Order: sequence, then structure tokens, then C-alpha cells
Amino acid sequence: MSASAEFEAANEKYAASFNKGHLQLPPGRKVVVVACMDARLDPAKALGLNEGDAHVIRNAGGRTVEALRSIVISQQLLGTREIAVVHHTDCGMLTFSDADLRSKVRQDLGEDVDHFSFLPFSDLKQSVVDDVSILKKSPLVLDVSITGYIYDVKTGKLEKVYA
Ligand SMILES: [Zn+2]
Repeated sequence: MSASAEFEAANEKYAASFNKGHLQLPPGRKVVVVACMDARLDPAKALGLNEGDAHVIRNAGGRTVEALRSIVISQQLLGTREIAVVHHTDCGMLTFSDADLRSKVRQDLGEDVDHFSFLPFSDLKQSVVDDVSILKKSPLVLDVSITGYIYDVKTGKLEKVYA
């Protein structure tokens, strides 16, 4: 079965007992989570979030510079007032350099992507510190509580590394 066929079957079950239709658009817990897209990290389960609670913005690495557009929308239009940044152990972003991926794209797709960065990193803790700092310094982001975490994909535990 294809992934899409499995999604449709799973959704039938989900919708059959769905009772969250009353939820409001603004996140109830007024929080934004920026997390890596890694398949082993489930922010809802790992952080105890339910439908309606939070904005969860995901991308490769959980890089905040890429999440900025969504954070501004979240704060300015939907009232969120706290941010959590979640990177994780064994992240794929630790495994390549911009030069590596640029050359692979050039080779496989025949495209020149030398003008943009894929935002890889070589130091996990530093990547969290950098991403929280980007938000703290940005004039586009409100002066709210911003906490940076590393999620351990082996233990499921969250370590606070920057607050
Ligand atoms: Zn990752």
C-alpha cells in the first residue's frame, strides 16, 4: 500500500472519533515550537501537545532563520507569546556541508545552488544557541521567553541547553 492510501485509511479512523471541531484558530497555549523535521521526533508526543495547543514549525535542523516568516505570523496575528527551539541528537544536519550538497545537486539535478545555504551545522549545542540567539536579536520577534532544547532520539529525553 502507498503512503497516501495508508494515510486515507488512518484518517477514516481518526475522523470517526474526532471531537475537536470546537477548537479556536489561535493556539490555546500561546506557544510556538521550532523543531527539526526528523522522523524520530514527534513534538506533540515528546512535549505533551494536543490539537489546538501550539504552532509547530518544522524544517531540516529546526533552523529558526527559516522559520522566521511563520513566527512573525504566529506572534503578530495569532497571539503566541513563547518559543521553544528543539534540535536533536544524531541530526542529519551534522552529516554534510554546504559544499557537499551543492555539488550533489549540481551533479544529480544539473542546478547551481551555490547562492544558498542548506544551514547544516557541526556542533549540536552551538546550533541551538545560535538559533535561539537569532530570535532574541531579531527586531521582528517579540521579547518573549525563548528556550532551546536538545531532544535525545535514543532516550526520548529533552535537555534544556539555552534559556
Ligand atoms: Zn534533525
